[in-house]
Amino acid sequence: VERSKVTDPSWRRMAACRGVSPDLFFPSKGEPAGEAKQVCQTCPVAGACLDFAITSGEETGIWGGMSERQRREVARARRIAAQAGDQAATG
Ligand code: SF4
Repeated sequence: VERSKVTDPSWRRMAACRGVSPDLFFPSKGEPAGEAKQVCQTCPVAGACLDFAITSGEETGIWGGMSERQRREVARARRIAAQAGDQAATG
């Protein structure tokens, strides 16, 4: 497999943040991230981007329009939903 295919998933080609300064998406602690989130709002692949960040455990930056803290909440909610699904299937 070509390395570029691993590090650059196909959805990135459609990312609204292509060509936008990455600095915008990796604000320092306490810096506002509103501009980055605005770009994400126009992004056609925000869902894939968010899933990628959650499954790969990205701890910094804005992905899928969400901060690290927001992603943690989504990941937690998904875990709870998955557990509920497991219980429904086995119980
Ligand atoms: S959701 Fe935001 S960070 Fe992710 S690809 Fe789209 S514009 Fe970039």
